[in-house]
Amino acid sequence: MAPMLRLYNTLTREKAPFAPIDPAHVRMYACGPTVYDAAHIGNARPIIVFDLLFRVLRHLYGPAHVTYARNVTDVDDKINARAAERGITIRELTDETLSAFHADVRELGVLMPADVNRPGERPRFVEPRATDHIAEMVRLIEGLVASGHAYVAQGHVLFDVPSMPDYGALSKRPLDEMEAGARVEVAPYKRSPLDFVLWKPSKPGEPAWPSPAGIAEPGRPGWHIECSAMSWKHLGETFDIHAGGIDLIFPHHENEVAQSRCCFGTPVMANVWLHNGFLQVEGEKMSKSLGNFVTIREVLNDWPGEVARLAMLRTHYRQPIDWTLRGLEEASRTLDRWYAAVGDEPGNGAPPETVLEPLLDDLNTAAALAELHRLDDPAALKAGALLLGFLGETRSERERASVAASGIDVARVEALIEARRAARAAKDWAGSDRVRADLAAMGVAVKDNKDGTTTWSVAG
Ligand code: AMP
Ligand code: ZN
Repeated sequence: MAPMLRLYNTLTREKAPFAPIDPAHVRMYACGPTVYDAAHIGNARPIIVFDLLFRVLRHLYGPAHVTYARNVTDVDDKINARAAERGITIRELTDETLSAFHADVRELGVLMPADVNRPGERPRFVEPRATDHIAEMVRLIEGLVASGHAYVAQGHVLFDVPSMPDYGALSKRPLDEMEAGARVEVAPYKRSPLDFVLWKPSKPGEPAWPSPAGIAEPGRPGWHIECSAMSWKHLGETFDIHAGGIDLIFPHHENEVAQSRCCFGTPVMANVWLHNGFLQVEGEKMSKSLGNFVTIREVLNDWPGEVARLAMLRTHYRQPIDWTLRGLEEASRTLDRWYAAVGDEPGNGAPPETVLEPLLDDLNTAAALAELHRLDDPAALKAGALLLGFLGETRSERERASVAASGIDVARVEALIEARRAARAAKDWAGSDRVRADLAAMGVAVKDNKDGTTTWSVAG
């Protein structure tokens, strides 16, 4: 029996023991990025927090018994607009943005599909793209129309909200309040102001796919249907955990629930719903529209990814976080101390119970980190830190992997970095620049971090 994990469930507004539908196959879904532009550090919060949950589930149930799906939204108005603005195709824009996103989150110590998937086995981490699941969306939409939960009107398919008696159960908003909110500029083809779009006509120049039955013209999906389609395809009609930022509870998650439950006739879509709080700057949500954002890349230009990860996990995931320089500086000092304390310890042992226990209490990372501080046994510290995605596995091994793929001579790089360090210590700036140029010629980028460490990576 796995030790008991307790999670706060938005659906019940209670913390309760987590009981997977099938302990031999625990399934979680998280809403991932919309790939039109560089992600900001607020967007990194759900990625890091639910990466930690994935790690904890893998620890409890075994790596072969957990599947994590985190989708990529690559069809969206903002994507269309940005691609047109830049004069590139949508696929070029989404591919470019997605690879930048991957590079960003990899540095934050987030497990990637290639880190956990094994050839010939069921994938443990899938990153489905919306545009690869249009056929599933169309099948869901047709199912909803056939069962009387959706209707076709003027080239659109709308979800018929009044057809679902307990619509609103997740967000617990009173129906009249939702109606009042929706009443602003109600589209003429909607039967109820609450009805939402499952499918819509494509305007000239927008991507278009064959529409569900009853619509001759090609069209494109609404926002919410993609997650119902991708979670169904990769996790099934009902699964264990669905996660995302708190802003997604309504309307996105509420509408996902409506679509999936009404299509499959199930009492729940996911049993447990988890939502992270906002990352804030001076008391306001960090967001593109407010203009108060820092991109993940900008943070990584100044700090190792591990420092950003620690600064993020110091606060419980449901609380708001204030993103401050002080938080990063403290995290950096903590990591220095841990690195010095663990030395070459491989950390192969089980993580200490004292660190695991608070994590099992709805991912109480603040308490788990406090327990790590108390450890003076290097093996225990390393094993505990690894469970949280710190020390080792995050940076050096990843870099070694990309270096191995690049064919770069690591010993030579390390020797040059050492030579550069010596030149800088001797204030031989010309010598230091020469070494940097040699490294650049080998395809190696060097970075001097604010915490005094020097790290390097394959340039490009
Ligand atoms: P978006 O690209 O706005 O759809 O956001 C992608 C993910 O990041 C969603 O799960 C959002 O809830 C989450 N998110 C966006 N802004 C913040 C923020 N300031 N703090 C925490 N999470 C955020
Ligand atoms: Zn979603």
